[in-house]
Amino acid sequence: MSQYDIIVIGGGHNGLTTAAILAKKGKKVLVVEKRDVLGGIAAGEEFHPGYSTTGLLHDTSGVRTEAIKKLQLENHGLEFENARADVMLLSKDGKSINIQSDVDSTATAIKEFSEKDAGAYREYQAFIKKVGKVFDNLMDNPPPDIDVEHLTMASLVVLAKKGMLLKGLGNKTMMELLKVAPMCVADFLNEKFETDFLKAGLAAPALYGSYAGPWSAYSTINLLLWECASKSNVKGGPQALVDALQKAAEQAGVEIRTGAEVEKILLDNEGAVSGVRLKGGEEIHAKKVAASCTPKETFLNLFDDFEIEYELDYWIDKIRSRGTTAKVNLAINKSVQLNGKTVEYARTGNSFDEMEKAFDPVKYREVTGAPFLDIHIPTVSNPSLAPEGHSVVSILVHQIPYDFEAGWSADAKKQLGDDVLKELEIYSPGISSAVVGMEILTPADFEERYTLTEGHIFHGEHFVDQLVTRPIPSCARYTTPVSGLYLCGSGSHPGGGITCMPGYLGASMILK
Ligand SMILES: Cc1cc2nc3c(=O)[nH]c(=O)nc-3n(C[C@H](O)[C@H](O)[C@H](O)COP(=O)(O)OP(=O)(O)OC[C@H]3O[C@@H](n4cnc5c(N)ncnc54)[C@H](O)[C@@H]3O)c2cc1C
Repeated sequence: MSQYDIIVIGGGHNGLTTAAILAKKGKKVLVVEKRDVLGGIAAGEEFHPGYSTTGLLHDTSGVRTEAIKKLQLENHGLEFENARADVMLLSKDGKSINIQSDVDSTATAIKEFSEKDAGAYREYQAFIKKVGKVFDNLMDNPPPDIDVEHLTMASLVVLAKKGMLLKGLGNKTMMELLKVAPMCVADFLNEKFETDFLKAGLAAPALYGSYAGPWSAYSTINLLLWECASKSNVKGGPQALVDALQKAAEQAGVEIRTGAEVEKILLDNEGAVSGVRLKGGEEIHAKKVAASCTPKETFLNLFDDFEIEYELDYWIDKIRSRGTTAKVNLAINKSVQLNGKTVEYARTGNSFDEMEKAFDPVKYREVTGAPFLDIHIPTVSNPSLAPEGHSVVSILVHQIPYDFEAGWSADAKKQLGDDVLKELEIYSPGISSAVVGMEILTPADFEERYTLTEGHIFHGEHFVDQLVTRPIPSCARYTTPVSGLYLCGSGSHPGGGITCMPGYLGASMILK
Protein backbone atom coordinates (compact mmCIF):
# COMPACT_ATOMS: atom_id res chain seq x y z
CA MET A 1 0.00 0.00 0.00
CA SER A 2 1.40 3.38 -0.99
CA GLN A 3 1.37 5.83 1.89
CA TYR A 4 2.15 8.79 -0.37
CA ASP A 5 1.80 9.65 -4.06
CA ILE A 6 5.34 10.97 -4.15
CA ILE A 7 8.34 11.01 -1.85
CA VAL A 8 10.84 13.83 -2.42
CA ILE A 9 14.38 13.09 -1.29
CA GLY A 10 16.06 16.24 0.02
CA GLY A 11 14.66 19.44 1.48
CA GLY A 12 16.92 21.88 -0.37
CA HIS A 13 15.25 24.75 -2.24
CA ASN A 14 14.58 22.54 -5.30
CA GLY A 15 13.13 19.62 -3.30
CA LEU A 16 10.81 22.04 -1.49
CA THR A 17 9.76 23.61 -4.80
CA THR A 18 8.90 20.22 -6.33
CA ALA A 19 6.99 19.15 -3.22
CA ALA A 20 4.97 22.37 -2.98
CA ILE A 21 3.95 22.32 -6.65
CA LEU A 22 2.89 18.67 -6.55
CA ALA A 23 0.92 19.15 -3.33
CA LYS A 24 -0.83 22.20 -4.81
CA LYS A 25 -2.03 19.86 -7.56
CA GLY A 26 -3.58 17.57 -4.95
CA LYS A 27 -0.80 15.00 -4.56
CA LYS A 28 0.04 13.51 -1.18
CA VAL A 29 3.72 14.40 -0.78
CA LEU A 30 6.40 13.60 1.79
CA VAL A 31 9.79 15.35 1.91
CA VAL A 32 12.57 13.45 3.66
CA GLU A 33 15.64 15.51 4.53
CA LYS A 34 18.78 13.97 5.95
CA ARG A 35 19.91 17.03 7.91
CA ASP A 36 18.11 18.50 10.90
CA VAL A 37 17.49 21.73 9.00
CA LEU A 38 15.78 22.44 5.69
CA GLY A 39 17.30 24.40 2.83
CA GLY A 40 20.27 22.23 1.84
CA ILE A 41 23.08 24.51 0.72
CA ALA A 42 20.77 27.51 1.04
CA ALA A 43 20.23 27.12 4.81
CA GLY A 44 21.53 29.97 6.96
CA GLU A 45 23.70 28.78 9.83
CA GLU A 46 25.50 30.06 12.92
CA PHE A 47 29.23 29.41 12.36
CA HIS A 48 30.58 31.03 15.55
CA PRO A 49 28.63 31.87 18.72
CA GLY A 50 26.66 35.03 17.93
CA TYR A 51 27.68 35.17 14.23
CA SER A 52 25.57 33.71 11.38
CA THR A 53 25.49 33.67 7.61
CA THR A 54 22.30 33.93 5.54
CA GLY A 55 23.35 30.77 3.70
CA LEU A 56 26.47 29.13 2.39
CA LEU A 57 26.04 31.06 -0.84
CA HIS A 58 25.85 34.74 -1.67
CA ASP A 59 23.98 35.40 -4.82
CA THR A 60 20.20 34.91 -5.01
CA SER A 61 19.77 36.95 -8.18
CA GLY A 62 19.07 33.83 -10.28
CA VAL A 63 15.71 32.96 -8.65
CA ARG A 64 13.17 32.65 -11.49
CA THR A 65 9.85 34.45 -11.27
CA GLU A 66 8.03 31.58 -13.04
CA ALA A 67 8.25 29.30 -9.99
CA ILE A 68 7.74 32.12 -7.50
CA LYS A 69 4.47 33.16 -9.13
CA LYS A 70 3.18 29.59 -9.34
CA LEU A 71 3.76 29.11 -5.61
CA GLN A 72 2.62 32.64 -4.71
CA LEU A 73 5.69 32.94 -2.52
CA GLU A 74 5.05 36.67 -2.02
CA ASN A 75 2.06 35.57 0.12
CA HIS A 76 4.55 33.68 2.29
CA GLY A 77 6.82 36.64 2.94
CA LEU A 78 9.17 36.51 -0.06
CA GLU A 79 10.39 39.91 -1.20
CA PHE A 80 12.93 40.97 -3.79
CA GLU A 81 15.31 43.92 -3.79
CA ASN A 82 14.50 46.54 -6.43
CA ALA A 83 17.50 45.64 -8.55
CA ARG A 84 20.53 43.38 -8.80
CA ALA A 85 22.92 44.11 -5.93
CA ASP A 86 25.97 46.30 -6.53
CA VAL A 87 29.28 44.42 -6.70
CA MET A 88 32.61 46.15 -6.12
CA LEU A 89 35.45 44.90 -8.33
CA LEU A 90 38.68 45.29 -6.38
CA SER A 91 42.16 45.95 -7.74
CA LYS A 92 45.30 45.17 -5.73
CA ASP A 93 46.53 48.76 -6.07
CA GLY A 94 43.55 50.10 -4.10
CA LYS A 95 41.31 51.00 -7.04
CA SER A 96 37.74 49.76 -7.36
CA ILE A 97 34.79 49.87 -9.75
CA ASN A 98 31.21 49.55 -8.54
CA ILE A 99 29.18 47.40 -10.95
CA GLN A 100 25.57 48.49 -10.55
CA SER A 101 22.34 47.33 -12.10
CA ASP A 102 22.10 50.73 -13.81
CA VAL A 103 24.30 50.51 -16.91
CA ASP A 104 24.86 54.27 -17.25
CA SER A 105 26.06 54.66 -13.65
CA THR A 106 28.42 51.72 -14.10
CA ALA A 107 29.76 53.14 -17.37
CA THR A 108 30.42 56.44 -15.59
CA ALA A 109 32.37 54.59 -12.86
CA ILE A 110 34.37 52.70 -15.51
CA LYS A 111 35.13 55.94 -17.41
CA GLU A 112 37.44 56.99 -14.56
CA PHE A 113 39.78 54.24 -15.73
CA SER A 114 39.11 54.03 -19.46
CA GLU A 115 36.78 55.89 -21.81
CA LYS A 116 37.00 52.98 -24.26
CA ASP A 117 35.90 50.51 -21.55
CA ALA A 118 32.94 52.69 -20.57
CA GLY A 119 31.63 52.47 -24.14
CA ALA A 120 32.46 48.77 -24.36
CA TYR A 121 30.48 48.12 -21.16
CA ARG A 122 27.37 49.74 -22.66
CA GLU A 123 27.74 47.57 -25.78
CA TYR A 124 28.36 44.46 -23.68
CA GLN A 125 25.20 45.05 -21.61
CA ALA A 126 23.16 45.80 -24.76
CA PHE A 127 24.29 42.42 -26.15
CA ILE A 128 23.34 40.68 -22.87
CA LYS A 129 19.91 42.29 -22.98
CA LYS A 130 19.30 41.08 -26.54
CA VAL A 131 20.46 37.48 -26.05
CA GLY A 132 18.73 37.35 -22.65
CA LYS A 133 15.48 36.36 -24.38
CA VAL A 134 17.07 33.18 -25.71
CA PHE A 135 18.55 32.26 -22.33
CA ASP A 136 15.29 33.05 -20.50
CA ASN A 137 13.48 30.65 -22.80
CA LEU A 138 16.07 27.94 -22.15
CA MET A 139 15.96 28.47 -18.38
CA ASP A 140 12.17 28.51 -18.07
CA ASN A 141 11.37 25.39 -20.10
CA PRO A 142 12.30 21.73 -19.98
CA PRO A 143 15.10 20.88 -22.40
CA PRO A 144 13.72 19.99 -25.84
CA ASP A 145 13.26 16.32 -26.63
CA ILE A 146 16.07 15.54 -29.06
CA ASP A 147 15.63 11.77 -29.22
CA VAL A 148 15.81 11.54 -33.04
CA GLU A 149 14.45 7.98 -33.11
CA HIS A 150 11.23 8.98 -31.36
CA LEU A 151 10.71 12.56 -32.52
CA THR A 152 7.07 13.60 -32.27
CA MET A 153 5.39 16.53 -34.01
CA ALA A 154 5.17 18.31 -30.64
CA SER A 155 8.92 18.04 -30.01
CA LEU A 156 9.66 19.20 -33.56
CA VAL A 157 7.51 22.27 -32.96
CA VAL A 158 9.44 23.02 -29.74
CA LEU A 159 12.76 22.68 -31.58
CA ALA A 160 11.54 24.90 -34.42
CA LYS A 161 10.44 27.55 -31.91
CA LYS A 162 13.91 27.56 -30.31
CA GLY A 163 15.42 28.04 -33.78
CA MET A 164 13.02 30.92 -34.47
CA LEU A 165 14.01 32.54 -31.18
CA LEU A 166 17.64 32.51 -32.29
CA LYS A 167 16.69 33.87 -35.70
CA GLY A 168 14.60 36.56 -33.98
CA LEU A 169 17.81 38.04 -32.59
CA GLY A 170 18.58 39.36 -36.06
CA ASN A 171 21.53 38.34 -38.17
CA LYS A 172 24.19 40.48 -36.44
CA THR A 173 23.38 39.46 -32.85
CA MET A 174 22.80 35.81 -33.78
CA MET A 175 26.17 35.61 -35.55
CA GLU A 176 27.87 37.29 -32.61
CA LEU A 177 26.28 34.84 -30.16
CA LEU A 178 27.34 31.87 -32.28
CA LYS A 179 30.85 33.30 -32.50
CA VAL A 180 31.40 34.11 -28.84
CA ALA A 181 29.60 31.22 -27.07
CA PRO A 182 32.42 28.67 -27.59
CA MET A 183 35.15 31.20 -26.76
CA CYS A 184 37.16 31.31 -23.58
CA VAL A 185 36.06 34.19 -21.40
CA ALA A 186 39.52 35.83 -21.50
CA ASP A 187 39.52 36.09 -25.31
CA PHE A 188 35.88 37.28 -25.29
CA LEU A 189 36.48 40.09 -22.80
CA ASN A 190 39.96 40.96 -24.18
CA GLU A 191 38.26 41.80 -27.49
CA LYS A 192 36.12 44.38 -25.69
CA PHE A 193 37.95 45.83 -22.66
CA GLU A 194 41.43 47.04 -21.73
CA THR A 195 41.38 47.46 -17.90
CA ASP A 196 42.74 44.27 -16.31
CA PHE A 197 40.88 44.22 -13.00
CA LEU A 198 37.60 45.13 -14.73
CA LYS A 199 38.00 42.20 -17.13
CA ALA A 200 38.93 39.83 -14.29
CA GLY A 201 36.01 40.92 -12.13
CA LEU A 202 33.48 40.64 -14.95
CA ALA A 203 34.79 37.20 -15.90
CA ALA A 204 34.78 35.76 -12.37
CA PRO A 205 31.19 34.36 -12.35
CA ALA A 206 32.05 32.30 -15.46
CA LEU A 207 34.58 30.41 -13.37
CA TYR A 208 32.55 29.89 -10.19
CA GLY A 209 32.02 26.17 -9.69
CA SER A 210 33.83 25.47 -12.97
CA TYR A 211 36.82 23.29 -13.54
CA ALA A 212 38.15 26.09 -15.71
CA GLY A 213 40.45 29.08 -15.85
CA PRO A 214 39.80 32.20 -17.91
CA TRP A 215 41.56 30.62 -20.88
CA SER A 216 39.41 27.47 -20.85
CA ALA A 217 37.27 26.96 -23.95
CA TYR A 218 33.52 27.56 -23.65
CA SER A 219 33.83 29.58 -20.43
CA THR A 220 32.04 32.50 -22.17
CA ILE A 221 28.80 30.49 -22.22
CA ASN A 222 28.89 30.34 -18.41
CA LEU A 223 29.33 34.10 -18.23
CA LEU A 224 26.40 34.71 -20.61
CA LEU A 225 24.22 32.31 -18.62
CA TRP A 226 25.05 34.08 -15.38
CA GLU A 227 24.61 37.60 -16.80
CA CYS A 228 21.29 36.74 -18.45
CA ALA A 229 19.88 34.88 -15.44
CA SER A 230 20.91 37.44 -12.88
CA LYS A 231 18.01 39.74 -11.87
CA SER A 232 17.10 41.02 -8.38
CA ASN A 233 18.34 39.50 -5.13
CA VAL A 234 16.01 38.02 -2.52
CA LYS A 235 15.59 40.24 0.56
CA GLY A 236 17.08 38.36 3.52
CA GLY A 237 19.20 36.08 1.31
CA PRO A 238 18.83 32.35 0.62
CA GLN A 239 17.35 31.58 4.06
CA ALA A 240 14.41 33.90 3.33
CA LEU A 241 13.64 31.90 0.16
CA VAL A 242 13.80 28.64 2.10
CA ASP A 243 11.42 30.00 4.77
CA ALA A 244 8.88 31.05 2.11
CA LEU A 245 9.15 27.70 0.30
CA GLN A 246 8.65 25.78 3.55
CA LYS A 247 5.52 27.81 4.35
CA ALA A 248 4.12 27.30 0.82
CA ALA A 249 4.82 23.56 0.98
CA GLU A 250 3.26 23.13 4.42
CA GLN A 251 0.20 25.17 3.49
CA ALA A 252 -0.29 22.96 0.43
CA GLY A 253 -0.23 19.91 2.73
CA VAL A 254 3.32 18.63 2.24
CA GLU A 255 4.58 16.51 5.13
CA ILE A 256 8.20 17.26 5.97
CA ARG A 257 10.54 15.06 7.98
CA THR A 258 14.03 16.28 8.87
CA GLY A 259 16.74 14.05 10.32
CA ALA A 260 15.41 11.41 7.91
CA GLU A 261 18.14 9.99 5.70
CA VAL A 262 17.17 7.78 2.78
CA GLU A 263 19.59 4.86 2.62
CA LYS A 264 17.88 3.04 -0.24
CA ILE A 265 15.33 3.58 -2.99
CA LEU A 266 13.08 0.50 -3.01
CA LEU A 267 12.08 -1.34 -6.19
CA ASP A 268 9.26 -3.84 -6.73
CA ASN A 269 9.54 -7.14 -8.61
CA GLU A 270 9.12 -5.33 -11.94
CA GLY A 271 12.03 -2.99 -11.18
CA ALA A 272 9.73 0.01 -10.63
CA VAL A 273 10.03 2.35 -7.65
CA SER A 274 8.01 1.29 -4.59
CA GLY A 275 9.32 3.70 -1.94
CA VAL A 276 12.34 4.40 0.22
CA ARG A 277 14.03 2.88 3.24
CA LEU A 278 15.35 5.31 5.83
CA LYS A 279 18.49 4.86 7.88
CA GLY A 280 17.24 2.89 10.89
CA GLY A 281 15.15 0.57 8.72
CA GLU A 282 11.80 2.33 8.35
CA GLU A 283 10.21 1.74 4.94
CA ILE A 284 7.88 4.32 3.38
CA HIS A 285 5.90 3.43 0.28
CA ALA A 286 5.08 5.47 -2.82
CA LYS A 287 5.01 4.68 -6.50
CA LYS A 288 7.00 7.78 -7.33
CA VAL A 289 10.21 9.18 -5.87
CA ALA A 290 11.74 12.53 -6.88
CA ALA A 291 15.40 12.89 -5.93
CA SER A 292 16.84 16.36 -5.37
CA CYS A 293 20.18 15.08 -4.10
CA THR A 294 22.99 14.82 -6.66
CA PRO A 295 22.51 12.36 -9.56
CA LYS A 296 25.61 10.49 -8.43
CA GLU A 297 24.27 10.18 -4.87
CA THR A 298 20.90 9.02 -6.23
CA PHE A 299 22.10 6.30 -8.57
CA LEU A 300 25.42 5.24 -7.09
CA ASN A 301 24.59 5.27 -3.37
CA LEU A 302 20.83 4.73 -3.05
CA PHE A 303 20.68 1.49 -5.06
CA ASP A 304 22.40 -1.81 -4.42
CA ASP A 305 25.26 -2.87 -6.70
CA PHE A 306 23.99 -4.22 -10.05
CA GLU A 307 20.41 -3.14 -9.24
CA ILE A 308 20.30 -0.52 -12.01
CA GLU A 309 21.31 -1.26 -15.58
CA TYR A 310 25.02 -1.18 -16.36
CA GLU A 311 24.84 1.58 -18.98
CA LEU A 312 23.01 3.95 -16.63
CA ASP A 313 25.45 3.22 -13.82
CA TYR A 314 28.40 3.77 -16.21
CA TRP A 315 27.29 7.17 -17.53
CA ILE A 316 26.24 8.48 -14.13
CA ASP A 317 29.68 7.55 -12.83
CA LYS A 318 31.22 9.57 -15.69
CA ILE A 319 29.45 12.84 -14.74
CA ARG A 320 32.17 15.38 -14.01
CA SER A 321 31.67 17.00 -10.61
CA ARG A 322 35.13 18.05 -9.48
CA GLY A 323 34.55 20.58 -6.70
CA THR A 324 36.69 23.73 -6.92
CA THR A 325 35.08 26.01 -4.34
CA ALA A 326 35.78 26.45 -0.62
CA LYS A 327 34.12 28.72 1.93
CA VAL A 328 35.65 30.83 4.68
CA ASN A 329 33.37 32.56 7.18
CA LEU A 330 34.95 35.24 9.36
CA ALA A 331 33.62 36.73 12.59
CA ILE A 332 35.14 40.23 12.83
CA ASN A 333 35.02 42.52 15.86
CA LYS A 334 34.61 45.76 13.89
CA SER A 335 33.07 47.11 10.71
CA VAL A 336 34.96 46.18 7.54
CA GLN A 337 36.02 48.24 4.55
CA LEU A 338 37.50 46.99 1.28
CA ASN A 339 39.79 49.36 -0.64
CA GLY A 340 38.58 52.04 1.74
CA LYS A 341 34.87 51.56 1.04
CA THR A 342 31.94 49.99 2.87
CA VAL A 343 30.52 47.41 0.49
CA GLU A 344 28.27 44.37 0.74
CA TYR A 345 29.48 42.40 -2.29
CA ALA A 346 32.98 42.41 -3.80
CA ARG A 347 35.19 40.33 -6.09
CA THR A 348 38.93 40.05 -6.40
CA GLY A 349 40.76 38.63 -9.40
CA ASN A 350 43.02 41.44 -10.53
CA SER A 351 44.00 39.97 -13.90
CA PHE A 352 43.45 36.96 -16.15
CA ASP A 353 47.05 35.88 -15.53
CA GLU A 354 46.49 35.72 -11.78
CA MET A 355 43.19 33.85 -12.19
CA GLU A 356 44.72 31.32 -14.58
CA LYS A 357 47.65 30.82 -12.19
CA ALA A 358 45.13 30.11 -9.39
CA PHE A 359 43.54 27.42 -11.58
CA ASP A 360 46.80 25.78 -12.73
CA PRO A 361 47.50 23.85 -9.47
CA VAL A 362 43.93 22.44 -9.43
CA LYS A 363 44.81 20.31 -12.47
CA TYR A 364 47.59 18.67 -10.46
CA ARG A 365 45.46 18.28 -7.29
CA GLU A 366 47.37 21.10 -5.58
CA VAL A 367 46.23 24.33 -3.92
CA THR A 368 47.09 27.88 -4.96
CA GLY A 369 48.50 30.21 -2.30
CA ALA A 370 46.70 33.14 -4.00
CA PRO A 371 43.03 32.27 -4.54
CA PHE A 372 40.53 34.75 -5.94
CA LEU A 373 37.66 35.67 -3.68
CA ASP A 374 33.95 36.36 -3.89
CA ILE A 375 33.22 38.39 -0.77
CA HIS A 376 29.88 39.07 0.92
CA ILE A 377 29.55 41.17 4.07
CA PRO A 378 25.90 40.46 4.98
CA THR A 379 26.07 42.56 8.15
CA VAL A 380 26.15 45.72 5.98
CA SER A 381 22.43 45.26 5.30
CA ASN A 382 21.57 42.93 8.17
CA PRO A 383 23.53 43.89 11.33
CA SER A 384 21.55 41.35 13.41
CA LEU A 385 23.77 38.54 12.08
CA ALA A 386 26.58 39.63 14.47
CA PRO A 387 26.93 41.46 17.81
CA GLU A 388 26.50 45.23 17.54
CA GLY A 389 29.31 46.92 15.60
CA HIS A 390 30.79 43.58 14.53
CA SER A 391 30.78 42.01 11.06
CA VAL A 392 30.38 38.71 9.27
CA VAL A 393 32.57 38.28 6.20
CA SER A 394 31.49 35.36 4.06
CA ILE A 395 34.01 34.39 1.39
CA LEU A 396 33.69 31.93 -1.48
CA VAL A 397 37.23 30.89 -2.34
CA HIS A 398 37.66 29.75 -5.91
CA GLN A 399 40.01 27.19 -7.49
CA ILE A 400 40.39 25.02 -4.40
CA PRO A 401 40.39 21.33 -5.38
CA TYR A 402 38.28 18.59 -3.81
CA ASP A 403 40.90 15.92 -4.41
CA PHE A 404 43.86 17.76 -2.86
CA GLU A 405 46.70 15.28 -3.19
CA ALA A 406 48.16 16.02 0.25
CA GLY A 407 44.68 15.60 1.82
CA TRP A 408 42.49 18.10 3.66
CA SER A 409 44.17 17.76 7.07
CA ALA A 410 43.63 20.32 9.86
CA ASP A 411 46.98 21.90 8.89
CA ALA A 412 45.97 22.13 5.23
CA LYS A 413 42.72 23.84 6.20
CA LYS A 414 44.58 26.26 8.46
CA GLN A 415 46.93 27.08 5.58
CA LEU A 416 43.91 27.79 3.37
CA GLY A 417 42.49 30.14 6.04
CA ASP A 418 45.90 31.91 6.32
CA ASP A 419 46.13 32.31 2.52
CA VAL A 420 42.64 33.80 2.37
CA LEU A 421 43.46 36.27 5.16
CA LYS A 422 46.74 37.19 3.43
CA GLU A 423 44.75 37.93 0.25
CA LEU A 424 42.11 39.88 2.18
CA GLU A 425 44.78 41.99 3.92
CA ILE A 426 45.61 43.49 0.50
CA TYR A 427 42.15 45.07 0.36
CA SER A 428 41.52 45.53 4.08
CA PRO A 429 44.82 46.09 5.91
CA GLY A 430 44.76 44.94 9.55
CA ILE A 431 41.68 42.73 9.16
CA SER A 432 43.51 39.63 10.44
CA SER A 433 43.89 41.10 13.91
CA ALA A 434 40.11 41.71 14.13
CA VAL A 435 39.18 38.06 13.48
CA VAL A 436 37.46 36.52 16.53
CA GLY A 437 36.19 33.36 14.84
CA MET A 438 36.68 31.52 11.59
CA GLU A 439 35.02 28.60 9.82
CA ILE A 440 36.79 26.92 6.91
CA LEU A 441 34.86 24.55 4.67
CA THR A 442 36.68 22.73 1.86
CA PRO A 443 34.94 20.88 -0.98
CA ALA A 444 35.49 17.72 1.08
CA ASP A 445 33.53 19.33 3.94
CA PHE A 446 30.68 20.21 1.53
CA GLU A 447 30.49 16.57 0.56
CA GLU A 448 30.30 15.47 4.17
CA ARG A 449 27.89 18.13 5.44
CA TYR A 450 25.62 18.67 2.42
CA THR A 451 26.07 15.34 0.57
CA LEU A 452 27.50 17.20 -2.41
CA THR A 453 29.30 14.60 -4.51
CA GLU A 454 32.99 15.62 -4.71
CA GLY A 455 31.95 18.89 -3.10
CA HIS A 456 30.61 20.28 -6.36
CA ILE A 457 28.47 23.34 -5.69
CA PHE A 458 26.14 22.76 -8.66
CA HIS A 459 25.66 18.95 -8.26
CA GLY A 460 27.77 18.58 -11.44
CA GLU A 461 29.93 20.87 -13.54
CA HIS A 462 28.39 23.47 -15.83
CA PHE A 463 30.27 22.57 -18.97
CA VAL A 464 28.52 22.74 -22.29
CA ASP A 465 28.05 18.95 -22.70
CA GLN A 466 26.68 18.69 -19.16
CA LEU A 467 24.35 21.64 -19.73
CA VAL A 468 22.76 20.49 -22.99
CA THR A 469 21.83 17.02 -21.74
CA ARG A 470 21.96 17.44 -17.99
CA PRO A 471 22.97 15.27 -16.14
CA ILE A 472 23.17 12.58 -18.87
CA PRO A 473 21.09 12.05 -22.05
CA SER A 474 18.85 9.29 -20.65
CA CYS A 475 17.85 11.43 -17.63
CA ALA A 476 17.83 14.84 -19.33
CA ARG A 477 14.08 15.47 -19.00
CA TYR A 478 13.70 14.65 -15.27
CA THR A 479 12.47 11.12 -15.97
CA THR A 480 15.00 8.27 -15.63
CA PRO A 481 15.31 4.71 -16.96
CA VAL A 482 14.08 3.54 -13.51
CA SER A 483 10.28 3.58 -13.70
CA GLY A 484 8.82 5.96 -11.10
CA LEU A 485 12.13 7.69 -10.34
CA TYR A 486 12.50 11.39 -11.22
CA LEU A 487 15.27 13.95 -10.73
CA CYS A 488 14.48 17.45 -9.46
CA GLY A 489 17.73 18.95 -8.10
CA SER A 490 20.56 21.09 -9.45
CA GLY A 491 21.98 18.12 -11.34
CA SER A 492 19.10 18.57 -13.82
CA HIS A 493 18.29 21.30 -16.36
CA PRO A 494 18.84 24.28 -16.11
CA GLY A 495 21.52 23.43 -13.56
CA GLY A 496 22.92 24.67 -10.28
CA GLY A 497 22.31 27.95 -8.56
CA ILE A 498 19.42 29.29 -6.56
CA THR A 499 16.80 29.32 -9.30
CA CYS A 500 14.02 26.89 -8.17
CA MET A 501 13.85 25.78 -11.82
CA PRO A 502 15.03 22.14 -11.66
CA GLY A 503 12.44 21.65 -8.90
CA TYR A 504 9.72 23.50 -10.79
CA LEU A 505 10.31 21.83 -14.18
CA GLY A 506 10.84 18.43 -12.53
CA ALA A 507 7.42 18.76 -10.86
CA SER A 508 5.80 19.72 -14.21
CA MET A 509 7.23 16.61 -15.86
CA ILE A 510 6.02 14.39 -12.97
CA LEU A 511 2.52 15.84 -13.38
CA LYS A 512 2.63 15.09 -17.12
C1 LIG B 1 29.72 27.15 -1.33
C2 LIG B 1 28.60 27.30 -2.32
C3 LIG B 1 28.36 28.54 -2.88
C4 LIG B 1 27.36 28.71 -3.81
N1 LIG B 1 27.11 29.96 -4.27
C5 LIG B 1 26.03 30.17 -5.04
C6 LIG B 1 25.61 31.49 -5.33
O1 LIG B 1 26.21 32.47 -4.87
N2 LIG B 1 24.51 31.65 -6.12
C7 LIG B 1 23.80 30.60 -6.59
O2 LIG B 1 22.81 30.80 -7.28
N3 LIG B 1 24.17 29.33 -6.30
C8 LIG B 1 25.24 29.10 -5.52
N4 LIG B 1 25.59 27.82 -5.18
C9 LIG B 1 24.86 26.70 -5.78
C10 LIG B 1 23.49 26.52 -5.19
O3 LIG B 1 23.57 26.77 -3.82
C11 LIG B 1 23.01 25.07 -5.42
O4 LIG B 1 23.03 24.78 -6.80
C12 LIG B 1 21.59 24.90 -4.90
O5 LIG B 1 21.43 25.48 -3.64
C13 LIG B 1 21.27 23.44 -4.81
O6 LIG B 1 19.91 23.32 -4.40
P1 LIG B 1 19.18 21.91 -4.49
O7 LIG B 1 17.89 22.07 -3.81
O8 LIG B 1 19.21 21.45 -5.90
O9 LIG B 1 20.14 20.92 -3.68
P2 LIG B 1 20.69 20.96 -2.17
O10 LIG B 1 20.62 22.31 -1.56
O11 LIG B 1 22.04 20.30 -2.25
O12 LIG B 1 19.66 20.02 -1.41
C14 LIG B 1 19.70 18.63 -1.50
C15 LIG B 1 19.26 18.12 -0.16
O13 LIG B 1 19.22 16.70 -0.20
C16 LIG B 1 19.58 16.21 1.07
N5 LIG B 1 19.97 14.81 0.92
C17 LIG B 1 21.04 14.32 0.25
N6 LIG B 1 21.05 12.98 0.33
C18 LIG B 1 19.96 12.61 1.04
C19 LIG B 1 19.44 11.37 1.47
N7 LIG B 1 20.04 10.23 1.17
N8 LIG B 1 18.30 11.35 2.21
C20 LIG B 1 17.66 12.51 2.53
N9 LIG B 1 18.13 13.73 2.16
C21 LIG B 1 19.26 13.77 1.42
C22 LIG B 1 20.73 17.12 1.47
O14 LIG B 1 20.96 17.09 2.86
C23 LIG B 1 20.23 18.47 0.97
O15 LIG B 1 19.53 19.16 1.97
C24 LIG B 1 26.58 27.61 -4.22
C25 LIG B 1 26.79 26.37 -3.64
C26 LIG B 1 27.80 26.21 -2.70
C27 LIG B 1 28.05 24.87 -2.08
